[in-house]
Amino acid sequence: MSHLVEENLKAVRQQMALACQISGRKAEDVKLLLATKTVPLDKLHMAINAGETLFGENKAQELGDKYPLMQQYNQLQWHFIGHLQSNKVKDVVKYATLVHSVDRLRLGEALHKQLLKENKTMDILVQVNTSYEASKFGASPELTLELVEQLSHYETLTIKGLMTIGKLNATIEETRSCFRLLKTLQAQIKEKGFPRVAMDELSMGMSGDFEIAIEEGATIIRVGTTVFGERYLPDRQYWQKQSNA
Ligand SMILES: *Cc1c(COP(=O)(O)O)cnc(C)c1O
Repeated sequence: MSHLVEENLKAVRQQMALACQISGRKAEDVKLLLATKTVPLDKLHMAINAGETLFGENKAQELGDKYPLMQQYNQLQWHFIGHLQSNKVKDVVKYATLVHSVDRLRLGEALHKQLLKENKTMDILVQVNTSYEASKFGASPELTLELVEQLSHYETLTIKGLMTIGKLNATIEETRSCFRLLKTLQAQIKEKGFPRVAMDELSMGMSGDFEIAIEEGATIIRVGTTVFGERYLPDRQYWQKQSNA
């Protein structure tokens, strides 16, 4: 039982290597981020003991709670991958090295103001709603280039790339087209050469679709369930604009 996380990780690492091989990509070009929302600390320790260093949290509160308890490890990196309210940026600025989920100018402004106060800079990704699902967060694909251009005026922010959550419960082709759209947007934005916009990272792919994401150019995949098991809270608690239930 205690080896489960380790075994799951080994399997994911193997699947990643295979997907890289199939698509002619180098294994070191794809990073594995472990999505740890609701995951208890003992499982985090197991993942760290297995050599993992990159973790992502969805809520400022949970990040703030877990971070200090993981201080004994000095190699860890924490990313923020969830919906972020403008009034909750403080802990995120304090603990995260990359925010994947910037999807509106207001949030960029809030981050910028906090960063100025602390005399810091920060890397961000812009989250895009590539599946056009009304319930999902993310900038609309049509407005993403404009949003990146506007965000690039905040000199505390470096825009490293784009993030998306692929369409869930979808066919492989539907999922693939979400990832292709993100890749297309990346190329279009890169071409503009905005200041402080690097566009080298594509954060896409989760437990159910990371192999497709790797085939379509993901540089960071975000995996939770496959490594840690099912969560006791439904994802709509984390993802949706309004909970319908
Ligand atoms: C929870 C979460 C993941 C991981 O999802 P799994 O299906 O459990 O692998 C990835 N990205 C985001 C933004 C998440 O909230």
